[in-house]
Amino acid sequence: MTIQRLEFVDLPDPRATTLFEISTIPGISGKGDTSYECPSCNSILLENIVSPDFTRIAFRCPACGSLSQMPDKHRRAPRPV
Ligand SMILES: [Zn+2]
Repeated sequence: MTIQRLEFVDLPDPRATTLFEISTIPGISGKGDTSYECPSCNSILLENIVSPDFTRIAFRCPACGSLSQMPDKHRRAPRPV
């Protein structure tokens, strides 16, 4: 199991990104092998998920209110090259 930090995001683009208001910690728990923590307070927001599943979603941490999203390498490019 790996733990990665989410990346801070100021204001997600509403056309490209869904804002997921997390209400519990962890907000999502799955059967994958990677967990993601809040970049501000280190709370585990996404537990044991399959990494590429949650691209283009911003998460609001219930503990500190920070907005974050998946690190770049997991996000899909806006347009195929
Ligand atoms: Zn937090």
